[in-house]
Amino acid sequence: MAETIFDKIIDKSIPAEILYEDELALAFSDINPQAPVHFLVIPKKQIATINDITEADREVVGHLYVVAAKLAAEKGFADQGYRAVMNCNEYGGQTVYHIHLHVLAGKPMGWPPYTDKMKPLE
Ligand code: AMP
Repeated sequence: MAETIFDKIIDKSIPAEILYEDELALAFSDINPQAPVHFLVIPKKQIATINDITEADREVVGHLYVVAAKLAAEKGFADQGYRAVMNCNEYGGQTVYHIHLHVLAGKPMGWPPYTDKMKPLE
């Protein structure tokens, strides 16, 4: 499977602001934040997209949400609320092909994420 920049963050060969780490997952600040708080929770296992998740990944994928909830509580934005979202492939807006849960907080989130003003992808 192709290596991504997130493998380099996992093996610490490039720097990141790491917020949490255990044997299954890593959380670090997004380099291009889209909200006052924006971090990513990723599995250490290479899984390219949501489409590649299998039954064997139940624990690790569920664990990403456990880590997100733990950090939300620790950082004090759990009750106020936040968005936790995973993009899939081109139309989903995925750019790094190693699954990652975006956690965005600190301001009210808009919904829906798509409007007719957006240029459709070809
Ligand atoms: P997505 O578009 O859903 O694949 O999200 C990829 C995210 O990874 C984007 O929000 C990027 O800003 C973020 N990102 C890319 N490279 C890095 C990096 N070296 N450190 C932290 N975040 C990164």
